Amino acid sequence: MKKISTVCPYCGCGCGLYVHVEKDIITGVSPVRNHPVNKGSLCVKGWNCFEFVQHPGRLKYPLIKKDGVFKKSSWDEALDWTAENLLKVKEKFGPDSIGMLSSAKCTNEENFLMMKFSRAVVGTNNIDHCARLCHSSTVGGLAKAFGSGAMTNSIDEIDSSRVLFVIGSNTTEQHPMIGMHMLDAVDRGATLIVADPRKTQIAEFAKIHLRHRCGTDVALLNGMMNVIINEGLVDLDFVRRRTENFDDFEKIVMRYPLDIAEKITGVPAVDIRRVARIYATEKRSMLFYSMGITQHITGVDNVRSCANLVMLTAHIGLPMTGLNPLRGQNNVQGACDMGALPDVYSGYQKVTDKKARKKFESAWGAKLPSVPGRTLTEMFDAAGGEIRAMYIMGENPVISDPDASHVTEAIKKLDFLVVQDIFMSDTAELASVVLPAVTFAEKDGTFTNTERRVQKLKKAIRPVCGAMPDWRIISELSKRMGYEMEYGATHEIMEEAALLTPSYGGILHHRLNNFGLQWPCPGIDHSGTTFMHRKAFTKGMGSFIPIDFVPPAEPVDGDYPFILTTGRISFHYHTGTMCRRTSTLEREEPDCFVEINPADAESLGIKTHDRLSVSSRRGEIVVNASVTDRTPEGIVFIPFHFREAAVNLITNPALDPTAKIPEYKVCAVNIAPVVPKPDEEGKFFSRRENR
Ligand code: SF4
Repeated sequence: MKKISTVCPYCGCGCGLYVHVEKDIITGVSPVRNHPVNKGSLCVKGWNCFEFVQHPGRLKYPLIKKDGVFKKSSWDEALDWTAENLLKVKEKFGPDSIGMLSSAKCTNEENFLMMKFSRAVVGTNNIDHCARLCHSSTVGGLAKAFGSGAMTNSIDEIDSSRVLFVIGSNTTEQHPMIGMHMLDAVDRGATLIVADPRKTQIAEFAKIHLRHRCGTDVALLNGMMNVIINEGLVDLDFVRRRTENFDDFEKIVMRYPLDIAEKITGVPAVDIRRVARIYATEKRSMLFYSMGITQHITGVDNVRSCANLVMLTAHIGLPMTGLNPLRGQNNVQGACDMGALPDVYSGYQKVTDKKARKKFESAWGAKLPSVPGRTLTEMFDAAGGEIRAMYIMGENPVISDPDASHVTEAIKKLDFLVVQDIFMSDTAELASVVLPAVTFAEKDGTFTNTERRVQKLKKAIRPVCGAMPDWRIISELSKRMGYEMEYGATHEIMEEAALLTPSYGGILHHRLNNFGLQWPCPGIDHSGTTFMHRKAFTKGMGSFIPIDFVPPAEPVDGDYPFILTTGRISFHYHTGTMCRRTSTLEREEPDCFVEINPADAESLGIKTHDRLSVSSRRGEIVVNASVTDRTPEGIVFIPFHFREAAVNLITNPALDPTAKIPEYKVCAVNIAPVVPKPDEEGKFFSRRENR
């Protein structure tokens, strides 16, 4: 048996694991004992991260759709046909008529090539990926406050912290190994404070749980900062030396005395005061957030409010402090770093910056577009009009995007759709051509975890089918479209990325053997950065930004009297493409559900397992009820992993004006019991078909 060291393909923790291989078959995995993130542990998804690799449903050959039916094709035929059709669309409608979705599941090298393909080969900045739907508010919000949109500190610092303030993150379920560090810190005496409308798993371990109303984070944070300013807990020396715009910010915060904050958030004033004092007065206070903060029409405002709080108390630029956005997918940080975004090249160098553009133009020998492209959500809005073709790599927007039936309709209007994936996803079903790619276990490259740690993944087995690594597919397509991409191996792609990306300047494959390196790592003699903004912020002075409270886009009313909020559960991941083909995970959580508070359930005559219709202004789904006080009165919660009850059919596509992130966390819905009908076998609760 061989043991190949690599990285878990699920969440942004980036746990190190060994893949066990016998005769080119994966027989299991085990954790790396001294890895700085997982320290010899794995969560249930990590232990089971190999089954989908060898699933019989893997795509084994390219498919071309003719007369509405997929036909098996050779690689040459599929690549020629794809290149020919993309060129046709480009010639007829111009380069900006093509949109590209890159992937937070693919490697840094693949994301770098996808963004090069978009800009140098097609000639458009229309490139984006699912960070638009999870942390685009972080990228935009923190760039303005600090100059860099990433977790400022490191995971192993959690163990020695004294206060952990977790807002909008169900950490033990979504980032289990980070949750493990948090619980270890609590065991050592750290104070855990959780702000979340739901009683999440981590909230049960909190000393104080603030259950604010959905979408009132700005008012809660302004209320805390009002206390900190009024009680003289501001670190004035830090504010004077390291920040700007304090006076304008202070004027807005003064509009949120505790009685106003309590009225908006529903959190008792006494609790807001207590939390403000604890967070501000302890020296080793770390702040963590995730999509409970970012997925709102005020996502950028929420992120900037968190930044205001850490600057006000000088909880930044030191170990065991900082502002720590927990990124979701295994390589969403890397996909952003590599410039799979419509306005920046790798390392967040702006496409509008003439000097940066010239640098990339001369390295790539191509004229590059200077105007930022369309975001993911804007591409679907323009489909069939100004967007005529799309190339989607490793994403499944038909399930993951808000108001998903709008996405399906938009895709149907395209002249040509390329989907590159490991399984026939719901989006691939709609494609003109499907190109089979390989999994994490069948290729080399790097992933960047949520703490900016760039780690090497190693090919453990040969591709289990006739699939190709994404980077090879992109290179082959590029050649056929008249632009030679000659890479013999993924380390050559990273060498090119390092040359063009200051923060990755010293990130080369041969330097990553010992648990990788954390960027910024500007040169080959640099050992990486465990915490950022030590002496100055990336942009120089940190900027306070005055933020006023804005309510969510869709208030409840007589027709839609409940707030729906969405999220993830511990056994599944994202749209389920991998985890729902894994028997242990599927056995534990096979069905979708809607959490509803006991008081609401009683008033509607609902019991656990009853079938419920949940409808919004955009559609309806039917799910089983789960009556629980985890969810407060007036709010219901549905996970978004289940295609047979795809909650994104009903979520609100209203966008944050800056980051264009949709408001997944709040929309108005109605709930009604459904009269059960027996299925063909006479059973009342039919299970999902066995895929
Ligand atoms: Fe994988 Fe995340 Fe679990 Fe670690 S915490 S094993 S990275 S899913």
